[in-house]
Amino acid sequence: MSFSIFGLSDEIIRAVTECGYTDPTPIQLQAIPAVLSGADLMAGAQTGTGKTAGFTLPILHRLSDKSVKGPSSGRPAVRALILVPTRELAAQVEQSIREYGKYLKLNSMIMIGGVNINPQITRLKSRVDILVATPGRLLDHVQQRTLDLSRVEILVLDEADRMLDMGFIREIRKILALLPESRQNLLFSATFSDEIQTLAAGLVNKPVRIEAARRNATAENVTHIVHPVDRERKRDLLAHLIKRQHWAQVLVFTRTKHGANKLAEYLVRSDIPSLVIHGNKSQSARTRALAEFKTGRLQVLVATDIAARGIDITELPHVVNFELPNVPEDYIHRIGRTGRAGAKGEAVSLVCVDELKLLTEIERVIKCELTHHLIAGFEPDPDIRAEPIINGSNGGRRGMVSESTGRQRHGQQRGRSGSQPGAGMLAGQAARSRPAPHRSGGRGR
Ligand code: AMP
Repeated sequence: MSFSIFGLSDEIIRAVTECGYTDPTPIQLQAIPAVLSGADLMAGAQTGTGKTAGFTLPILHRLSDKSVKGPSSGRPAVRALILVPTRELAAQVEQSIREYGKYLKLNSMIMIGGVNINPQITRLKSRVDILVATPGRLLDHVQQRTLDLSRVEILVLDEADRMLDMGFIREIRKILALLPESRQNLLFSATFSDEIQTLAAGLVNKPVRIEAARRNATAENVTHIVHPVDRERKRDLLAHLIKRQHWAQVLVFTRTKHGANKLAEYLVRSDIPSLVIHGNKSQSARTRALAEFKTGRLQVLVATDIAARGIDITELPHVVNFELPNVPEDYIHRIGRTGRAGAKGEAVSLVCVDELKLLTEIERVIKCELTHHLIAGFEPDPDIRAEPIINGSNGGRRGMVSESTGRQRHGQQRGRSGSQPGAGMLAGQAARSRPAPHRSGGRGR
């Protein structure tokens, strides 16, 4: 089924065709007609489902359609506001708008923190039809009276669950209060927790509800493997796997910024070109690292969950969980970077005895028991006892705070002294290794 079924303008179809898309994804099939109809929308969709085009294409159509009433007089106003949790996601969404809208006369702007505000103030003096923003910087502009949101026609909250996870609820409520009451609201979220439902209750009006499984995490094309290993030997094992298996492009996740830095330093010392992407890095350093990685010049990118959120790297062959995430859903977000667009991907988790409870939780969430595979020479020592995971890092001593906001993250595990199973269980779990890699058949959500 082609994109022509939606009645999108020729300019949009042309741009989409040039992107190489032939068929709409399931979320696009549902979202595009709903948004075109003017209805509010609640969509269960994650990165990798094609959700960005799902809301961008109909928004572009509606804004460029003469029959949709725009402002009749005065300075051109922001007509669509897309709120996203992270700077990287903002950059990607705005880039998509430029690509899909390249034959239209609509202007978009990205508004993110971590960069000088003055060029943004200058930019706001000319026409901005579609604004893609992270909440903090947007409110800075509101405070400085450089931004008028009183004529927004369409609001998108993208990755709403992550925005709440990052502690943005107060900012979102402040922003909502600045918007005109009559508008179209589109809410995208990977999960629909009570918190999201509460937010949605005051936001969307008789929404169309749609849900799409991600194309990748659930798909046949991601192989999940657990390598049991001692905590102190993880980095040796990672370097071993990268070299031995000739991994050319690997995204590695750690729980903490400190852990990410230490690991990248170690890999570089082992002659494996690596860079780090996390919240303490400047925006330009993050952008540079991502660009190097995407082009294939950089072999390893070490990232924390929040920094990696929304990173769009197509057909990434390897994602490594150097440490399992504290929040099981983050496993799904992490591996969502692999196996895209029909390509095969491998999600590798290096799991030490401290992490067995986390592993069980992940398996419960993804509804799939992961294959364990011992690597010769890296077998876990059965005498090593589990240690509590404090502050998100095994053996660390800093306060447990979220990366981006300094606040405790929703659903994060607290220090769990003594609650971990012993090493014997790791050996026991390793025993259920199967020779062939097991593929996830679960929904992954
Ligand atoms: P998203 O879920 O919006 O982050 O999109 C994930 C990836 O899918 C991006 O690289 C898009 O360029 C790509 N994509 C979106 N829609 C389609 C489509 N209909 N056909 C092929 N690729 C698509």
